[in-house]
Amino acid sequence: MRDWDLVVCGAGPAGCALAAKVASGGGRVLLLERASAPGQGRDWVVDVAGGTFEAAGVPAPEAADLFEEPDATYLVTTARDLMVELLPSPILPVRNALYVRRLAQWAVESGAVLETERSVLGPLIEGDSIAGVRMSALSGEMVVTASITADCTGIGGAIRRQTPPGWRVCDGLTPSQIVLARRETRLIDRDSARENIREGHMMDRARLDRIGTQGPYSIETCFLDIERGFADILIGVKPGSGPDAEERFAAFLAERPFIGEKVFGDGGPIPIRRPLDTFVADGLVVLGDSACQVIPAHGSGTASALLAADLCAESVLRALETGRSDRAALWGYNQGFMLARGAVLAYYDVIRRHADTQDVADLNAMLRTGVLGPGEVFSGLFPEVPRLGFKQLVPKLRGMMKVIGAMPGIVRAGRLAGRTMDHYIDYPPLYRPGRLEEWIEAMPRGAREDSVG
Ligand SMILES: Cc1cc2nc3c(=O)[nH]c(=O)nc-3n(C[C@H](O)[C@H](O)[C@H](O)COP(=O)(O)OP(=O)(O)OC[C@H]3O[C@@H](n4cnc5c(N)ncnc54)[C@H](O)[C@@H]3O)c2cc1C
Repeated sequence: MRDWDLVVCGAGPAGCALAAKVASGGGRVLLLERASAPGQGRDWVVDVAGGTFEAAGVPAPEAADLFEEPDATYLVTTARDLMVELLPSPILPVRNALYVRRLAQWAVESGAVLETERSVLGPLIEGDSIAGVRMSALSGEMVVTASITADCTGIGGAIRRQTPPGWRVCDGLTPSQIVLARRETRLIDRDSARENIREGHMMDRARLDRIGTQGPYSIETCFLDIERGFADILIGVKPGSGPDAEERFAAFLAERPFIGEKVFGDGGPIPIRRPLDTFVADGLVVLGDSACQVIPAHGSGTASALLAADLCAESVLRALETGRSDRAALWGYNQGFMLARGAVLAYYDVIRRHADTQDVADLNAMLRTGVLGPGEVFSGLFPEVPRLGFKQLVPKLRGMMKVIGAMPGIVRAGRLAGRTMDHYIDYPPLYRPGRLEEWIEAMPRGAREDSVG
């Protein structure tokens, strides 16, 4: 008999929620985390669509886990010559580290065993299947066996990346499929902030999202609250597009001396490619950032991680009940996620890659002419495919006429995104050998390349 029913690698949102759900269903679960505590070194605010927690069947953040909300949010052109107010949306700003700690506590209370300062080194492969993991120990290295192993190690993919290519889960990431982000909350000197608010290009109680600061996929966000005495700043840039997120962050602060000491905040890389072609192999499930389940349009992955944990726990518990842990037994999670979310993530990946082919001037023109507006941003947050009624269509068409040169590319990308999404909706409902390869082979041309032209 194996040491554990399930070994979960990585105590982020995906790993903690999966461990809690499988342990409360009676599974013997070991949860391994490299840091000295869950959430440690990952204290950024994550904006999560309201309704996520209920939909994923996880405890909602408590008041202490939540950050302040701005009165209004604006999308701002790179040159700061236009601000578009976004629609009010039910987005909760959650302190990632505090919420992850709450989820880890839930896992432990549900019966999972949590071991911190445990670095997973790689999978234990027996034949064509994963039989557990190799991990760091005081004496060097040790092995833990499990019926099922979950890779929830985030962008590093400590398990999946060391599996054979034929399993279809070991894909790497190119620099264009990564965004580097840093988000910090800092104290401000209130009087100086009041005096310098205009030069600092900020607005009190409002969040300004300035796009295209360093290439089309880049952002500089600032929410200033003078009364409460803080500034919440987020920088996101692509690697290799210029200064990295830390350098841009430092430059942002240097231009605004009224922003002082850090209260909390951290940074890290986010995978922004379409989801992996499959999230399961014999004895293996892959979830969250490790499975590239992030919304490619803007890098939000918390809701996907929690939803994946819910779907995956159901499949894992069923597999354990039947004493099987092969691909076919775990396939329900695979297909369930593709239908519930993977298809729309793949849609947004095509849109993201098209945006990468544009220059910043095109992006600004789209914002200026209303082609990119509050409706599109709202849809991208949840995410859902933007739907236009007649009322929205007329001004949108007028805007499109003004960016006529960019239109063929936008139309092509929209059509390809739609076809790609349909292909994901047709994801094989059941596992049989060769069916996944056929599905990959039949993917619309351009859906897999790095550029859609
Ligand atoms: C600055 C920033 C801002 C963000 N803002 C948002 C936002 O507004 N909204 C949103 O939805 N998402 C946001 N994200 C993304 C979001 O944080 C991730 O999508 C989400 O945390 C993914 O959860 P996860 O459980 O898959 O992985 P992670 O949160 O990455 O957790 C992985 C865990 O595995 C551990 N680990 C890694 N390697 C090993 C190993 N070898 N052995 C053992 N343990 C290991 C890590 O220490 C970590 O605890 C942001 C990310 C960053 C960096």
